[in-house]
Amino acid sequence: MDCIFCKIVNGEIPSDIVYRDEEVFAFRDINPQAPVHILVVPVRHIASLAELTETDAPLVGHMVHVASQVARQEGIAERGYRLAISCGREGGQAVPHLHLHLLGGRQMADAMG
Ligand code: AMP
Ligand code: ZN
Repeated sequence: MDCIFCKIVNGEIPSDIVYRDEEVFAFRDINPQAPVHILVVPVRHIASLAELTETDAPLVGHMVHVASQVARQEGIAERGYRLAISCGREGGQAVPHLHLHLLGGRQMADAMG
């Protein structure tokens, strides 16, 4: 599979790993938009939110929980942070492997988008 995040998950492309387990992988964004910018991705290739099925719901819940634990580990849990998932062209999704952005360490803008 010619997917950059699959290659990151399987180690073909190096990354700054923050967390991993059998289902989820988290690494620092190469072009950080905030002092803390981490991507949480499923190990299994899922192209986007648009491809999710009911059986993926626990996996997505796990991704959110992992993000909250990583936020704690990064020391931003109390100040606060933002989780974001882009989907498709108009959602601004550049990489077609589902990923959750964990952004923190600065004040986020009020408005979305
Ligand atoms: P999105 O625009 O939501 O699809 O986000 C894609 C994100 O992946 C961007 O924030 C990129 O900076 C990030 N990214 C792309 N390639 C890499 C890479 N090799 N390592 C870490 N982050 C990456
Ligand atoms: Zn992939």
